[in-house]
Amino acid sequence: MEWEVVIGLEIHAQLATKSKIFSAAATQYGAEPNSQACAIDLGLPGVLPVLNEKAVEMAIKFGLGANAEIARQSIFARKNYFYPDLPKGYQISQYELPIVGKGYVDVPLDDHSSKRIHITRAHLEEDAGKSLHEDFHGLSGIDLNRAGTPLLEIVSEPDIRSAKEAVAYLKTIHSLVRYLDICDGNMQEGSFRCDANVSIRPKGETTFGTRTELKNINSFRFVERAINHEVERQINIIENGGKIVQETRLYDPNKNETRSMRSKEEANDYRYFPDPDLLPLIITDELIESVRQALPELPQQKRQRFIEQYGLNAYDASILVSSKDMANFYETTVKESGNQPKLAANWIISELLGALNKAGLDINESPISSTQLGKLVSRIADHTISGKIAKIIFEALWNKEGDVDDIIEQRGLKQVTDTAAIETLIDEIIAANPQQVADYRAGKEKLLGFFVGLAMKASGGKLNPGQLNELLKKKLQG
Ligand code: ADP
Ligand code: MG
Repeated sequence: MEWEVVIGLEIHAQLATKSKIFSAAATQYGAEPNSQACAIDLGLPGVLPVLNEKAVEMAIKFGLGANAEIARQSIFARKNYFYPDLPKGYQISQYELPIVGKGYVDVPLDDHSSKRIHITRAHLEEDAGKSLHEDFHGLSGIDLNRAGTPLLEIVSEPDIRSAKEAVAYLKTIHSLVRYLDICDGNMQEGSFRCDANVSIRPKGETTFGTRTELKNINSFRFVERAINHEVERQINIIENGGKIVQETRLYDPNKNETRSMRSKEEANDYRYFPDPDLLPLIITDELIESVRQALPELPQQKRQRFIEQYGLNAYDASILVSSKDMANFYETTVKESGNQPKLAANWIISELLGALNKAGLDINESPISSTQLGKLVSRIADHTISGKIAKIIFEALWNKEGDVDDIIEQRGLKQVTDTAAIETLIDEIIAANPQQVADYRAGKEKLLGFFVGLAMKASGGKLNPGQLNELLKKKLQG
């Protein structure tokens, strides 16, 4: 039996406001436990929440960036449940009327194609506190600093068909919120997290199977692993005659397994009702327009500009706009390279990203700065060095051995372009290899590579390949 995987993601992005969504308490990460939760965040009797306008603007920004409808009127609702890190007994969220409605993003895939994933809705809500299980023997600690931090919950349609697509979609949303400057995207600190809803169905079937919801996924790598693991589990159960139970499962990255946390609650278990302390949120056309005017260049637009302005192909362009940091790195490299956009793109994509990937580093942790990489590219373009020597310099730059020109100078890596010097070298090679020369002249032209190799070796790779080829052919013809 062939199975089709169906996935929908619920992404929680903490909005980068200075204060909480309904109070003036600070949102800063890493403060002394329980030093940043005020009476409003705790829902103590007699307090009144007041909506943070910045959080509203950020949600609108997201809606515009995700091609979505913005609701002119939305409602805050209480979602009631008990949990130690939610001492007031309910979370303020949005239910029937969310601020952002249907939208979509186009997600670039590995095979150079792209897929449109639809967004069902995105709503504003407050985060809960945190239960800490590790440092307290047999007890749990409660840190309420996070309570009341603004969240945007972004819900996708079940459009995703593989773990890889899920990662690509998550990366697209991650990049978008970073471009929009509405979330710092830090997954370790929990500023950007996701739950994955996963089901399977026989290929060709049109109705969906029963889904499970995976929680506790806090890295791109784990999203892929957790989903793949869950798909295998579901296939196993069904192929052995069992049934999938709708439930919430917790992913354990150490054991690479999911385990049941609780059976899935239904929406009506939460007893949603409009929060009587908060007025309906009315958004005017003027506000939407002013947010639209202030939008930065977004990934799709930047990608289009890179294609037109720099002559890049669509795939390279989508890699280079995959994050704002990456795009900035590229544009600085181009500037420093003396306008060599394609060569700069090649060096970033095939050399730098390869090396960063291997070292597990992000573009903004690159040991080679965009200025230095640009200079390296400019030295290839102006024929000071060959592409081969450039790789040696690249390594030296990676090891922080100094500036491009200093490395070229100190190591004597300048390309030899003096025709007379190259001809002398060729004469020596011809004299030392009479048999090969005779064979070449008798028609074995493949031997040219042999002579190129000898000349390059003798010069330490410092010859210009085009020039060398030309001179060699002339001399070999006699
Ligand atoms: P709930 O509110 O109970 O979490 P929703 O209907 O809001 O349920 O769906 C939550 C997420 O689950 C959405 O991202 C949606 O795309 C996804 N989803 C719904 N049905 C399925 C299914 N059968 N398989 C996989 N994902 C699904
Ligand atoms: Mg849900």
